[in-house]
Amino acid sequence: MNIVVQKFGGTSVASLERMQQVMKKVLAARAHGNKLVVVLSAMSGETNKLIALANQFSEEPDPAELDVLVTTGEQISVALFAMLLKDAGVKARSLLGYQVPIETDSDFCRARIVNIDTDRIRAMLEEYDVLVMAGFQGCDCHGRITTLGRGGSDTSGVAIAAALKADTCEIYTDVDGVYTTDPNICSQARKLSRVTYDEMLEMASMGAKVLQIRSVEFAKKYNVPVHVRSTFSDEPGTMVIQEDKSMEAVLVSGIAYDKDQARVTVYDVIDQPGVAAAIFGPLAEDGILVDMIIQNTSREGRTDMTFTIPRADLKKTMRILEGTKAQIGAKDIQYDTGVCKVSVIGVGMRNHSGVAAKAFAALSKENVNILMISTSEIKITCLIEEKYMALAVHTLHEAFELGKNGTNAC
Ligand code: ADP
Ligand code: ASP
Ligand code: MG
Repeated sequence: MNIVVQKFGGTSVASLERMQQVMKKVLAARAHGNKLVVVLSAMSGETNKLIALANQFSEEPDPAELDVLVTTGEQISVALFAMLLKDAGVKARSLLGYQVPIETDSDFCRARIVNIDTDRIRAMLEEYDVLVMAGFQGCDCHGRITTLGRGGSDTSGVAIAAALKADTCEIYTDVDGVYTTDPNICSQARKLSRVTYDEMLEMASMGAKVLQIRSVEFAKKYNVPVHVRSTFSDEPGTMVIQEDKSMEAVLVSGIAYDKDQARVTVYDVIDQPGVAAAIFGPLAEDGILVDMIIQNTSREGRTDMTFTIPRADLKKTMRILEGTKAQIGAKDIQYDTGVCKVSVIGVGMRNHSGVAAKAFAALSKENVNILMISTSEIKITCLIEEKYMALAVHTLHEAFELGKNGTNAC
């Protein structure tokens, strides 16, 4: 049995007309004799609406109940699309996360998949030609509904493809593929025909929301080639694949940005062993992803600690820090939400020096002040004021000549 997994995002299922476009892709794959698992997101804007509704009812909505609420978005999409397929004479049915089942841990709102029972779904594929599966959702071992974090339908798609050892895994979206940077921000952005798992991991973790980071982790772990492409054209998109020798020749492959960030500074903490652990331990226990961290040199036995977190976690972070403030002897805690991360990414950086210097020079030429810096083997990230985001993306894109095909020099 040839199995094809196709995942369609929110904009692709936003209306009847768009679902009819989706249907063309599904019917074309079926006409080639494939069995399909079609993974759908909620209709565009629906998840945001549901979260806003929850926030009207509760200051900090209970995560488990929030998951019950937001999964209704995907439930609507799969029901409507399965109706369309049936009306077109296709043997199809909808499947919610718990019906697959997509088994996850109990970390509500950001659950991880722990198991997918493929026997059941394979048996269903004998009976049906198309299974329309709700993305983003699963259930834990107690039967409670969970979600996989924002953008999680990508992960549902790749995970089901990995579990079923599908022949093809296609992620259909509103752009033609993975670009050198967000094509909606920079008109010079160029579509990449291939990108490595590692580059895509960095791009996704640095804010390129075209693929959720966990979907790329899955793809890399189980070696699933992922084809990112457009619902609205037949052009080939971008293959996300394992690195090969030729890919190392490219120094920088993309620029990512992340506006959903906040910077927090804890002032005048006592500079002694255990203080960093006292600050970051409780944040980690609550699942808050701390990214860039700077500890200033100490003066008179006291120091400041500055770090970035996802903006959505700011309220929780401040509550937790207020709780540890006395223990660490902090005099003050301040935060800033007008910041944004801009990152330069490329596997070729491993073997070249001077990439960071070139990025800093380009930003300084435009008078963009760098507030914090962090680096990894294949990435340089600068925290800057949010108002400079588009300028910084353009400037870096141009500095590394990403609009041009081929390798880029340093
Ligand atoms: P979907 O609803 O299909 O899951 P998303 O909105 O989650 O789609 O992701 C697609 C969006 O990702 C694009 O519209 C684009 O604005 C954004 N994006 C950010 N960085 C990139 C990039 N490097 N390449 C392509 N798209 C990107
Ligand atoms: N509907 C969910 C979200 O908006 C999941 C997804 O679209 O991938 O985050
Ligand atoms: Mg998405």
